Amino acid sequence: MTAAILDGKALASQIRKELTEEVVDFIQNNGVMPALAAVLVGSDPASEVYVRSKRRDCEQVGITSQLHRLPEDASQDDLLDVIASLNTDEEVHGILVQLPLPSQIDTEYVLEVINPLKDVDAFHPENVGRLVQGRPRFLPCTPHGVVQILQRHDLPIAGQHVVIVGRSDIVGKPLSIMLAQRGVDATVTLCHSRTADLPAVTRSADILVVAIGRANFITAEMVKPGAVVIDVGINRTDAGLVGDVDYESVAQVAGHITPVPGGVGPLTRTMLLVNTLEAARRQETGVC
Ligand code: NDP
Repeated sequence: MTAAILDGKALASQIRKELTEEVVDFIQNNGVMPALAAVLVGSDPASEVYVRSKRRDCEQVGITSQLHRLPEDASQDDLLDVIASLNTDEEVHGILVQLPLPSQIDTEYVLEVINPLKDVDAFHPENVGRLVQGRPRFLPCTPHGVVQILQRHDLPIAGQHVVIVGRSDIVGKPLSIMLAQRGVDATVTLCHSRTADLPAVTRSADILVVAIGRANFITAEMVKPGAVVIDVGINRTDAGLVGDVDYESVAQVAGHITPVPGGVGPLTRTMLLVNTLEAARRQETGVC
C-alpha cells in the first residue's frame, strides 16, 4: 500500500482564500480592519522567522499586523505594560506573545494577563476551560489544523479510535479534548513517555496523531495498515526538517499521511488568522 498524501499546504491555501473573502466582508460590514499585534522579546532567530511569517500571512489575507519589540533583557513589568496597553487598544483584536520568553519572565503569568477576548493562541486558562466545556471562543491553532485536515478530506472521525502521542498543553492535550467532544465523537487515547507498550497502542489506532518532537520515531510496525497518520512533529536534522513519523516506511502501510514539511505546519499558521478574524468579529459585535 502507498498512502494518499494529505497536502496541508494546498489545504491551507484554500482556507486562506476563503478567509480573504471573509475579511473583505468583515471590513465592509464593520468599517474596521481586523488586527493582530505580535510581541517579540529579544531576537531569537527562530522567533524572528516565526513572527515575520505570521506578519506576512496576515498581509496575505488582509489582516493588519503590528510588531512590538522588547529587548532580550526586558523586565516582566516592561512586557506587562505592553500587554496592558494592547488589551485595551480598540484597534487591536488579537494579541500574540511569541514564545519562548527569556528566563527572567514567567511565561504562564504573562499568558494569563492577555485579554481572553484577544487570546488568539487560545492559551489563556479561561479559553482552555471553555474548550473543555465544549463552548470555545477560539480553537488552539495546531489541534484545529489537525481537525481541519481530517474534516476537509472527509475522513471519518466519529466512532474512530484516535491515538495521540504527546500530551503537551499546546497540541496533544487540547486535541484529545476536541476530538472526544460530543458531536465529533472519536474515542481517544492520549499517550506520553510513560505509556506502556506504546507500539501496541499505536497499532490499534484508526487515526494516529504524533506530536513528541523525536525525529522519525514512529515506524511502520507501529501503524495499523490503512490508518490515517498525522505527523505534527518538526525536527531539524542534518537531512533537513523531518517529522516524528518515519515517512518512507510508514507511507507504505498507512492509508493517509501528512508530509513534513507541508502537512500540519501551514494549517497551524492559517488557524491563527482564522482566530484573529473571530476575535475581531466578537469584539465588534460585543459577543463575549
Ligand atoms: P512537548 O515537548 O511540549 O511535549 C512532548 C510530548 O511528547 C510530551 O507529552 C512527552 O511525554 C511526549 N513524548 C516525548 N518522548 C516520547 C516517547 N519516546 N514516547 C511517547 N511520548 C513521548 O512538545 P510539543 O507538543 O510542544 O511539540 C511536539 C512536536 O510538535 C515538536 O516537534 C514541535 O516542534 C512540533 N510542533 C509542531 C507544530 C506544527 O504546527 N506543525 C506546532 C507545535 C509543535 P511526557 O509528557 O511524558 O514528557
